[in-house]
Amino acid sequence: MTATIGESLAGATERLRAAGSETARLDAELLLGWAVGADRTAIVAHPDAPVGADAAGRFEDAIRRREAGEPVAYIRGLKEFHGLAFSVDPRALIPRPETETLVDIAIGEVMARLSDRPYEAGGGPGGGGDPIRIADVGTGSGAIAVAIAVALRHRSVTMGRHVTILATERSPEALQLARENAVAHAAADGMRFVEADLFPPVLPDDGAPLDIVLANLPYVRSDAIPGLPIAASFEPRAALDGGADGLDEIRALLARLPDVLAEGGVAFVEIGADQGEAGPLAVAEILPGWHADVSTDLGGLPRVLRIERG
Ligand code: GLN
Repeated sequence: MTATIGESLAGATERLRAAGSETARLDAELLLGWAVGADRTAIVAHPDAPVGADAAGRFEDAIRRREAGEPVAYIRGLKEFHGLAFSVDPRALIPRPETETLVDIAIGEVMARLSDRPYEAGGGPGGGGDPIRIADVGTGSGAIAVAIAVALRHRSVTMGRHVTILATERSPEALQLARENAVAHAAADGMRFVEADLFPPVLPDDGAPLDIVLANLPYVRSDAIPGLPIAASFEPRAALDGGADGLDEIRALLARLPDVLAEGGVAFVEIGADQGEAGPLAVAEILPGWHADVSTDLGGLPRVLRIERG
C-alpha cells in the first residue's frame, strides 16, 4: 500500500523545509507532479489519490536530490520561462523570471521597428528591406532567443524574412541545449546558433551589422558567488561569475559594440539589481558619447541597460 498524494506532499514538504528550502511546499508539488507525470494543479486537486509504487520511488529520489540543494528545475529537467517550457540541465543557467523583462523589451523594440514599415496585403509586417538582425549573446539555454522567436510568430512576424536571430555561446554544450530548445519550440527558422566568445569573427550575412544586441551575461561579483543560494552551485559558474565587480563580461561586450552595431542599432544588456549606476558608468567609460539608461524589472529593481550610439 502506498501513500496518498496528500500524505506524500506533507512528508516531503516537511523534509524540504528542514533542509532549508524556502519554497518547500511548491517544490514538493512540482516534484510529485513530475514523478507521477501530471500537472501540479492535478496534484493539488487530488490529495486522496494513491501515488503508486513507481512514482513513489521517483519522488523519493527527487526529494533526496532537492534536500541536497539541487534546483527543482534541474531535477525536473524543465523550467517555465515567458510562458514556455524550456529544457534545462547543468549545461546552462536556469532562466530567471527577471530575464522576461529583457525579452519583453526586445519584442517591443522589434514591433516598433517593424511598424515603421508598410504593411503587406494579407496582414503581417511589411517584408520590404533587410530583416531586423538580432543577436542574443551568451544564449545559454536559448531561452531569450527562443521566447522572442515564438512571441514574434504569434504576432505574424515571419522569422527569417522580417527578423533573424543570431544566438552565440562559447560553451558548446550550452549551445547544443539552446538548439534543442529551439527545435522543441519549432523556432529554429531564421535562427543561427554559433559557438563564439561574444560575437563570431565575421557576422552572418557577410558581416551585416546588428540592429538589436541582447545579452544576459554573467554579472555576479566573484566574491558574491559563495553567498548565492545553494541551488546556484549546481549551475555553471562561468554563467554567473562576472569578475571582481561583476562587470567584466559586460565591459567586453561594450567594447565590441562599435564594430557590430548598425547605425541606429540598440543593445539591451541585463544587469544586477545593484549595478544600476555602475552599468551606465561602464558605458560612459568604454563608449564615450553613447547613451545609456536603465529599465527596472517587475520587482522595480534595475535590470536592463539600454545602450545606443550618441
Ligand atoms: N540573476 C542571476 C542570479 O542572481 C544572475 C544571472 C547572471 O549572472 N546573468 O542568480
